Amino acid sequence: MAEMFYEDAADLSIIQSKKVAVIGYGSQGHAHALNLRDSGVDVRVGLREGSPSGVKAQDAGLRVLTVADAVKEADVVVILAPDQNQRDLYRDQIAPNLNEGAALVFGHGFNIRFGYIKPEAGHDILMVAPKGPGHLVRREYVDGRGVPVIVAVEQDASGAAWDLALSYAAGIGGLRAGGIKTTFTEETETDLFGEQAVLCGGASQLVQYGFEVLTEAGYQPEVAYFEVLHELKLIVDLMVEGGIAKQRWSVSDTAEYGDYVSGPRVISPEVKENMKAVLADIQSGAFAERFIADQDAGAPEFKELRAKGETHPIETTGRELRKMFAWIKPADSDYTEGSAA
Ligand code: NDP
Ligand code: MG
Ligand code: MG
Repeated sequence: MAEMFYEDAADLSIIQSKKVAVIGYGSQGHAHALNLRDSGVDVRVGLREGSPSGVKAQDAGLRVLTVADAVKEADVVVILAPDQNQRDLYRDQIAPNLNEGAALVFGHGFNIRFGYIKPEAGHDILMVAPKGPGHLVRREYVDGRGVPVIVAVEQDASGAAWDLALSYAAGIGGLRAGGIKTTFTEETETDLFGEQAVLCGGASQLVQYGFEVLTEAGYQPEVAYFEVLHELKLIVDLMVEGGIAKQRWSVSDTAEYGDYVSGPRVISPEVKENMKAVLADIQSGAFAERFIADQDAGAPEFKELRAKGETHPIETTGRELRKMFAWIKPADSDYTEGSAA
C-alpha cells in the first residue's frame, strides 16, 4: 500500500519561514505561486524580461523579478517553466545564482530522471506534482479544497527534505486532498506513460477513429461528435466516482453487454503489446531524447503534428456545435479555440 500524507503530517510553518522563488507563471506556476501566497508564504516570481505572463503575475499582486534576481533571493526555487526549457534555464540562470543550501522543487521529474539537470550535492531536490492541471489546482484551493499531489525526494542534503516537501505540498493545498509518496523515477515514467498511452494519446486517437468510422459510414458528423466525444466526459466522471464498475452499473444493460463483447475487439491484446513498447521507450530515455532533440531544433516535428491534429474534421464539427451549447462554459479563460499554439 502506498504511503499517504494529509495535512496533519505537515508543518506549514516550515515553508512559511522560507523565501520562495517560483520560476514560470504558466499553468502550474500561477497556481503554486498564488496558493503559496494565500497560505502565508513569501513568494516572488522569476520570469524572463518582457515575459507576457509577468503582467498577469503583477496584476495578481505578486512581485516579479528576473529569474536570476528571484533565485538570488530564494531559499526554495520552484522550477515550473516548460520541461523542454528547464535544462538551459537551470544551467544559465538558476545554477549560477543559486544560494548555498537552497532547495529545488519540481512539478514533474523529467529533467532530473533523464539527467538534463544535475544539481550539486548541497541542494535538497524535491518534487510536489499535482495530479491535475494548474487551473484546477488554483480553483480547488480557492474553493477550500485541493488537488491530490505526489511527493518525492531525490536528494536529501539538509536531512529535512521530507519535512520541507510536505510543508510545500500543504502550502499549495495538495494535502487537503492527500499526497502519495513516490520517487522521481516512478512519477516521471508513469506520468509519461499515462498521458501517452491512455489519457492524451490513447483517448485522442480512440475518439478520432470512432468519429472517422461513423462519418465514413455516412452518419452525420454532429451526431457522431455527440456519441464519441461529448458523452465521454459523462462516462469518465462515473469512472472517477466509482471505478469502471460504477460506469457499468449506470449505463443500460445494452451498453454494458456491448462493453464486454466489443471492448476487447477494439482494444485487442495487441494494443497492450503496443503500450509495453511505448513504456520501454520511456524507460530507456528514447522518448525524452526524441522530444528534446526536436525542441532543440525549433520543434519542427512537434509543430507539424500539432497543425495536423488541428485540421481533423472532428475539430470543425465540435467548434460549430459547442457554440450552441449554453451549458458548456470553458473554465480556462487563457485558451482560445483553434489557437493551441
Ligand atoms: P507552462 O507551459 O504553462 O509554463 C509557461 C511559463 O513558463 C510561462 O510563465 C513562461 O513565461 C515560462 N517560461 C517559458 N520558458 C521560460 C524560460 N526559458 N525562462 C523563464 N520562464 C520561462 O508550463 P506548465 O505549467 O504546463 O508546466 C510546468 C511544469 O509543471 C512542467 O515540469 C510540467 O511537466 C509540470 N506539470 C504540469 C502540469 C500542467 O497542468 N500543465 C501538471 C503537472 C505537472 P513567458 O510568459 O515568458 O513565456
Ligand atoms: Mg505530464
Ligand atoms: Mg449512446
